[in-house]
Amino acid sequence: MTRFVDVTALTRMVGQVGMVAFLERIADQMRIDFARWESFDKCARVASHSDTGVIELMPVADGDHYAFKYVNGHPINATRGVSTVMAFGALAEVETGYPVLVSELTLTTAFRTAAASVIAAEALARPDARVMALIGCGAQSEFQALAFHTLLGIEEIRIFDIDKNAMRKLAAHLMRFPSLKVVSSASAAAAVKGADIVTTCTADKNWATILTPDMIEPGMHVNGVGGDCPGKTELHADVLRNAKIFVEYEPQTRIEGDIQQLPEDHPVHDLWRVIAGDSIGRDNAEQVTVFDSVGFALEDFSALTCVHALALELDEGMEIDLIPELNDPKDLFGRLLAVTVDNTPVKAA
Ligand code: NAD
Repeated sequence: MTRFVDVTALTRMVGQVGMVAFLERIADQMRIDFARWESFDKCARVASHSDTGVIELMPVADGDHYAFKYVNGHPINATRGVSTVMAFGALAEVETGYPVLVSELTLTTAFRTAAASVIAAEALARPDARVMALIGCGAQSEFQALAFHTLLGIEEIRIFDIDKNAMRKLAAHLMRFPSLKVVSSASAAAAVKGADIVTTCTADKNWATILTPDMIEPGMHVNGVGGDCPGKTELHADVLRNAKIFVEYEPQTRIEGDIQQLPEDHPVHDLWRVIAGDSIGRDNAEQVTVFDSVGFALEDFSALTCVHALALELDEGMEIDLIPELNDPKDLFGRLLAVTVDNTPVKAA
């Protein structure tokens, strides 16, 4: 049987262990998986573009498990009452191909993206970073704020969004964390001024420029989350040119990341090598670092691994008969005959 974790089950699971513990589990698993990067079979995600957004499939496997995520990105959706990003995914045994988990991944993606942002910042930001600017106060923003506060020690977050309601929503939710100082800013530039880390988490498909070179100060770390699709950027090309750039899986980031604005031979660095201890992150305290995050399948593999383990541990979700259980694996047809409503064979047309 296959374990099925829907939104209700995932919400109960997070409620039982706590948001921070759930985030920590995913971050811990992701550090382990990034450090064994070369044991994964990887490819850039497969994208289907339309005028309003993109739908993507993200597969990855190691010797034991295969995972995939279905995810979309439709910046226009908020105006229709639908989330910009929605996802679900599966985990299967490589040995047999049997799917052991089907799970919601919309909430989980927000946790995993925040976990990836933090493990990148651990590797790249100055260790004394305490102030973060957060541009874009949509669905991902609370998760980013929570992760940076609880896992990285960020004490003050300056927020900005062109949508004042989104800013108010984020500020209200962050009041639950009294140890975090939250400042609502009048502009992106005001939020960024004096920050140690800048997280951009906006959604706009049209070559947006959220950060310009004049806003960048020595030693900043830029966590660019929202530039993740062809034509969907957040950073001015000169912000990138003046920084040491780190990526998840280069072939995918060249297509989707902010670096799509740079020539193909512009140097970028593998985040996984820093996490594995094979190379260094920033070269000095004055250097500007950029994590050009697009979201890679390996991060969802880590998240699905955690969701599966936690669902079994808490006996959450439910077992579903996604795959027919057969007495004789060669007799698939017989399974139909066994379950007709009135227990009589189905008549051929
Ligand atoms: P969302 O639509 O809920 O929120 C986006 C916010 O950005 C909105 O509140 C919008 O008003 C704001 N915004 C748009 N243009 C802006 C501007 N110029 N200045 C300030 N704010 C602006 O989307 P979300 O689910 O929070 O996702 C945010 C972005 O992160 C999306 O682009 C999404 O595709 C991306 N994303 C990336 C990853 C990753 O792994 N890198 C994972 C998940 C989502």
